[in-house]
Amino acid sequence: MNRKQRRAREAQIRKDGNDELAAQVAMFGKLPEECTACEIPFDKKNKEMATTWNVVVRKEDEANPVRLYCPTCWNTAQEVINNYLKTMEENDEL
Ligand SMILES: [Zn+2]
Repeated sequence: MNRKQRRAREAQIRKDGNDELAAQVAMFGKLPEECTACEIPFDKKNKEMATTWNVVVRKEDEANPVRLYCPTCWNTAQEVINNYLKTMEENDEL
């Protein structure tokens, strides 16, 4: 597979992933209109917001399965997770 084909394939995988997420959102309810964490409003007509915000579907939470995070809260969450994993690794080494 040459580089161009590989890139096309990766783009397709990414697109499929988004389609799947969109299908889940459609299945579980509508997209929240604000960040689940800090409650700043989300404008779905804003293309930049639509591409930078993150949607998480938690099927086990029936009352509020679709969660939406602004980039700031998303990054904070990633940092918390990374720090947690790092701490776990460090503890493993002891
Ligand atoms: Zn937020």
